[in-house]
Amino acid sequence: MSDPLIHRRPSVPVDVGGVTVGGEAPIVVQSMTNTDTADEVGTAVQVADLARAGSELVRITVNNEAAAEAVPAIRQRLDDMGLDVPLVGDFHFNGHRLLSRYPACAEALAKLRINPGNVGKGRRRDPQFATMIEIARDLDKPVRIGVNWGSLDQDLLATMMDDNARRSEPLPPEAVMRQAVVRSALDSAEKAEALGLPHDRIILSCKMSVVQDLIAVYTDLAARCDHPLHLGLTEAGMGSKGIVASSAAMAVLLQQGIGDTIRVSLTPEPGESRTREVVVAQELLQTMGLRAFAPLVTACPGCGRTTSTFFQELAGQIQAHVRERMPEWRRRYPGVEAMTLAVMGCVVNGPGESRNANVGISLPGTGEKPVAPVYVDGEKTVTLKGERIGEEFVAIVEEYVARRYGGDVSS
Ligand code: SF4
Repeated sequence: MSDPLIHRRPSVPVDVGGVTVGGEAPIVVQSMTNTDTADEVGTAVQVADLARAGSELVRITVNNEAAAEAVPAIRQRLDDMGLDVPLVGDFHFNGHRLLSRYPACAEALAKLRINPGNVGKGRRRDPQFATMIEIARDLDKPVRIGVNWGSLDQDLLATMMDDNARRSEPLPPEAVMRQAVVRSALDSAEKAEALGLPHDRIILSCKMSVVQDLIAVYTDLAARCDHPLHLGLTEAGMGSKGIVASSAAMAVLLQQGIGDTIRVSLTPEPGESRTREVVVAQELLQTMGLRAFAPLVTACPGCGRTTSTFFQELAGQIQAHVRERMPEWRRRYPGVEAMTLAVMGCVVNGPGESRNANVGISLPGTGEKPVAPVYVDGEKTVTLKGERIGEEFVAIVEEYVARRYGGDVSS
C-alpha cells in the first residue's frame, strides 16, 4: 500500500537483519527501549512488547560494559520467545572500546548506530570512529550514521561558522548550523566508505528538535545522497505536543517521498506504555496512505447533537478491540489491516461516513429515534437498538472480517 501521489525518493536498499530499509521497501517503523540495557530481562521484555506492538527494528543503548555484556543474552531471550526483531545498538563516547572488548555484543546486533558528534574529541575522534566502522565492516553489519543536533561535532560547526564569517555575504547562523548537520552526516558516510564499509551498509539520520529545522535538513540531505534516511524529530516531547510536532515534521517529508524508516521519539507520560510511540508511528504512516497496519476507526468528534458519551465509548471500544484482535487477524485474514470502520454520533454525517467505511454504525444523537443503522460495504444491513448495541456491532465486525478476508463465515 502506498498512495500514488507520493513518489519515494530513490535510495539504495540496506538489509538490517532481514528487514530492508530503503529502496522499494515499505517504510520501516522502529522504536527504542528506555530500560537499563544491563537489565537483560527487563530489556528483553520491553523489546518484546515493542516488537509485538509492531516495531520492526528496536534500538537499545549500549552505554557501558554491563550493557555490552547483556546484549547477547537479550538476543537469546528474544529468540527463545520466537521474536526475530533485529536489535540496533546505540553507541556514544566509548563504542570503540565496547565493540572491541565484547565481540559477541557486536555479533548479536543487526545494526550499529554511531553518532559522529560523540565518537571522541580531537585526535582521538578519527581512530575511534574508524575502529567502530572497521568492526561493522568485518562483521558485515550496517551502520546508521546518526547525527543529532544536540551533539553535533563542535569542531566542524566552529570551522563552518568561521568560514561563513569570512564570506562577503555571510549566511544567518541557523543556516550554517543546518548545513553543518548535513555535512557531518555526509562526511562521516564518506569516511566510512573510505574505510571499506560498503555503500549499501549505510543509513543516515540528522535528527533535529525543531520542526522547520528537520524539514530543511532532510530536504537538503535527501537531495545530496542516495542512502536510506531514518526520520525522526528528536526530543519531540510528551503527549500531544510530541505527537503533533513529530507528525507535522515527518508528514511534510514523507509527502515528498523522503524517509525510509521512522521513529516517533515520545517521552512517555508516567506509567504510560513505551509502545505508544510505535502506535503513533504506524498511525502516521497509515493515515498518510503509506502503509496499513491495523483497521482505522473513523469517528466524529461529537458536538451538541450528542449529549451522551456512548458513541465515544463505542469508538474507543472498537479501536481497542481491533488492536487486541490484530495479532490473530493478521495471521488468519490477510488484507484485514486495510479495512475501515466508522462510528458516528448522529444522522448529520453518520450515514454518509458509515456508508464509506467497510463497516459503519450511525448512532442516535440527542432527540433522535434510539436506533443505530449499520452499513456494510455501503449498504444498510441491520438496525441495532437496546442495551447491547456495542456487543452486536463488534459481532458484526468479527463476522465481516472472517467472511471478507478469510472466506469463512463460521469462524
Ligand atoms: S456526526 Fe453528528 S454528532 Fe458527530 S460531529 Fe457531526 S453533527 Fe455532531
